[in-house]
Amino acid sequence: MTRLIFLGPPGSGKGTQSQILAENLNIPHISTGEILRQAMKDQTSLGIKAQSYVNSGDLVPDQLVQDLVEERLNQPDVKSGWILDGFPRKVTQAVFLEKLLAEINQGGERAINLDAPDDVVVARLLDRGRKDDTEEVIRHRLEVYRSDTAPLIDYYRDRQNLLTVNGDRSQEEVTHDLRHIITS
Ligand code: ADP
Repeated sequence: MTRLIFLGPPGSGKGTQSQILAENLNIPHISTGEILRQAMKDQTSLGIKAQSYVNSGDLVPDQLVQDLVEERLNQPDVKSGWILDGFPRKVTQAVFLEKLLAEINQGGERAINLDAPDDVVVARLLDRGRKDDTEEVIRHRLEVYRSDTAPLIDYYRDRQNLLTVNGDRSQEEVTHDLRHIITS
């Protein structure tokens, strides 16, 4: 049973790597960013509520993402495991997740910190060119990462539940390392 939480700055490769691993393991890849972007495209009420935050690089309010994660983790396909990409992104969300997983009997999750230096992630994001990947928004997302998300590294380390992987290598090298880690 694999249940993984991916931490790491925007552009660290957590989206790409978590998608590859989820396909390999045949478990759902749950990306809150992707779910929010799809909701924005479809202009659902979630999308309409989230769009100003996402487009400016701010975190959407906890309640919105927490509700969507809770709903997703109650679907039947998650019984064989899952990879969470982009959630939790704040200590408050991690506390929520811990409680939720206990309630729905889905413990044993592991957190992976995919790390890469700022200059590397900025260059990758500028290259990617998503709508929220303008230089100004990227800088802001990095600030938000440092202030709100990076404290989760200590949060999971304190719980003896953190593995750090160097994301500043080729995609193949990182995938190889991650595969090794999750099967050991
Ligand atoms: P990246 O990791 O490249 O920044 P994501 O696709 O994970 O991109 O997230 C894109 C945006 O979606 C974030 O900048 C934020 O606005 C919103 N978002 C995603 N996950 C969360 C979350 N857990 N809490 C709050 N906002 C979120």
